[in-house]
Amino acid sequence: MPVELRKGSLHLTGTPLWFDAKRKSELSFVSHAHSDHIARHESVVATKATLTLMEHRLGRVKSALPVSYRHPFELGALNVELLPAGHVLGSAQIRITRSDGHRIVYTGDLNCEPSLTAEAHEVAECDTLVIESTFGHPRFKFPPKAQVWEQIESWVRRTLAAGVQPVIYGYALGKSQEIARFLHSQGFGICAHEKIHAMCALYSSLGVDVPTRLFDGAFRDNEVGLFPPFGRSQALKAIRPKATAVCTGWAIDADIARRYGADVAFALSDHADCDALIAYAKATGASEVLTHHGYARELAHALREAGVFARAVSQPLQLTLPL
Ligand SMILES: [Zn+2]
Repeated sequence: MPVELRKGSLHLTGTPLWFDAKRKSELSFVSHAHSDHIARHESVVATKATLTLMEHRLGRVKSALPVSYRHPFELGALNVELLPAGHVLGSAQIRITRSDGHRIVYTGDLNCEPSLTAEAHEVAECDTLVIESTFGHPRFKFPPKAQVWEQIESWVRRTLAAGVQPVIYGYALGKSQEIARFLHSQGFGICAHEKIHAMCALYSSLGVDVPTRLFDGAFRDNEVGLFPPFGRSQALKAIRPKATAVCTGWAIDADIARRYGADVAFALSDHADCDALIAYAKATGASEVLTHHGYARELAHALREAGVFARAVSQPLQLTLPL
């Protein structure tokens, strides 16, 4: 197999290179700075934005190789290139061309819809595709993003008009910046939890302006609160009356609002849904697709139904023997 699972992380077979290794490794490609994709490695290959966001979370990276999109380079015997993944600022897919010409792509997390804060994804043509499957179950069909934005905006307007404080819960990196940028463009002020505020400042320093005010215990007129889904501030509890919304792809499932302690849930995702993952896999032209993370078996099954040779990384190859 071109890639293998070792200690729960993906590794490029026969090389020192890991993909988003969860534990310290000698050399890992880091696709983006979400906490389940980063660790204190000896050497890291990533985009400049990912390195900046990652260092904010983990401290200085010992040996970092900042790489621009679409600039192939040699890494030992491998030819390596990063392409945008559309997930959060700086997120990348990696394409490795082996000396025999075989091209392997690892997507990290992938989003194929236009984003207000992340670079638009590109189709990475390849022979073997290793694709994420967070929302790889066919039940995940996200509504058009424009429709979700309309729902969020209308909820904010209704809430403010009723004299109630709107507060939105979104992950500190990626989701929050997109929500903040959207609501700012609609004329609202954004007042954010310190973790989100710091990430917004980093985005702005990286060239994607996300204006927010740090929450100081009170909201001003026409402001929307922006807080992480968990570990929220004590001071927020004292704000009354307030209405709360969580923005997550998991909103497709029933009962999500309650599980996040919110009044409503909006299906705003920074991942591709099942159909988008299948369309992406087909567009790469890969003759072999390996699925990993999340609904890996379900996505592999859906891909096979769509005529693509696919299996989960953890799933052994099933050979059909002639009788
Ligand atoms: Zn992610």
